[in-house]
Amino acid sequence: MPAQDELLATVRWLGEEKFLGRAAGYDREARFPTENYADLRDAGFLGLVIPERYGGLGADYGSYMEISAELGRWCGATALTFNMHCATMLWSSQMADDLEMTAEQRDRHEARRAGIYRKVIEGGAVFAQPFSEPNSAAAAGKVPFGTTARKVEGGWLVNGAKHFASLAGAADYHGVLCTEAREDGDADVRDTIYLAVDGTAEGFSISGDWDVLGMRATSSNNLKLEDVFVADDHQLMPRGKYYQAALNWPHMFMTLCPTYMGIAQAAFDFTCQYLRGEIEGGPPAGSARHSPAKQLAVAEMRIKLEQARALFQRAVAEAGVNPPKDARLRAYAAQYTVMEYANDICRLALRTCGGRAIFRSLRLEQLYRDSRCGALMLPWTPEICMERLGRESLFEAGES
Ligand SMILES: Cc1cc2nc3c(=O)[nH]c(=O)nc-3n(C[C@H](O)[C@H](O)[C@H](O)COP(=O)(O)OP(=O)(O)OC[C@H]3O[C@@H](n4cnc5c(N)ncnc54)[C@H](O)[C@@H]3O)c2cc1C
Repeated sequence: MPAQDELLATVRWLGEEKFLGRAAGYDREARFPTENYADLRDAGFLGLVIPERYGGLGADYGSYMEISAELGRWCGATALTFNMHCATMLWSSQMADDLEMTAEQRDRHEARRAGIYRKVIEGGAVFAQPFSEPNSAAAAGKVPFGTTARKVEGGWLVNGAKHFASLAGAADYHGVLCTEAREDGDADVRDTIYLAVDGTAEGFSISGDWDVLGMRATSSNNLKLEDVFVADDHQLMPRGKYYQAALNWPHMFMTLCPTYMGIAQAAFDFTCQYLRGEIEGGPPAGSARHSPAKQLAVAEMRIKLEQARALFQRAVAEAGVNPPKDARLRAYAAQYTVMEYANDICRLALRTCGGRAIFRSLRLEQLYRDSRCGALMLPWTPEICMERLGRESLFEAGES
């Protein structure tokens, strides 16, 4: 496996040389970053977290989080959508390996994921990860997914709807979370099935007009699934294992964080460059950086950035199966901090750079808008993180 430093250097080069220059155009047109994906594909990055024995680059969770943050520094929409692809690969590889399975389940999963990874490595396929539904309590983990999968000969028939499905129209496959439709009609979160739905399948359709405030290039439109057939070998995790992963591998939901860690870093970098007169189209170097007010503002931004990064890195280092309660709570605190601070750092950046920084010809206003979206991402929105942090700090499991 290439060392993490080597992978980071590749992403930095792609980001700086290619993605940065394209970001404003994608944002303006709300267009999916297809060219960035072609570059990522050429660099072998579609297999970033796929284990080496399947031909991937074999980056683990920790390396992925650092690489994703670097990607977010140059193009938030690319980092966020690339996360959907990589998270799908991570859930079915590193995380699935940590879950309890019978030997038979493991053997079958091994065969199925080998086929999935072949599609990525040999076919260049991209996977999306739509779990959110109009009844968002399901994505928050409170109720079963309304999208159902009914067992039929050789596969599943899927029916339902997803919204905010990033990579709609761009992904080859959509990792759809659904609830197994049982004979008795009962729906149970433990019966969650995770299926790779072919974007060209009969009964699969996309609608919507993704014309939004931020993350405009993510193409997060609506999906409808009407009797879509999904073959058994497109099952991304064995029956019931998503539920087990959500309980036992909680840091799986933290992979949205690094995108916003990268945006926070970008806003900080921009501010320093702007005040030093190094931004093309910005003001020339002047007295601004000698002003104590500007220096204090930059110091405040740096403190927030360091706080967010320290907590992020600590939580990432603690990720794994069955973490102690403190580590799980720290992961909520890290998610909260990164998502809220990213926007706050962008807010401070705008205030510090001043009025000329709101022009769309400069990058900061896009960073500001993109950063606002971090706190909207289920299942760990800041509100949900706060709710869990407060409750679980005051109550132990089983206490009413
Ligand atoms: C740019 C972008 C890309 C996205 N991409 C994807 C994707 O690829 N796949 C995907 O599945 N989803 C994706 N999402 C969807 C996202 O995870 C949410 O489902 C979506 O933002 C809709 O959430 P909502 O705020 O309408 O949900 P609601 O649940 O209605 O939330 C409304 C508010 O209530 C709060 N809230 C909700 N439940 C609770 C609770 N139990 N306790 C306390 N507070 C609560 C939330 O924090 C939020 O502030 C994306 C969202 C965005 C913004």
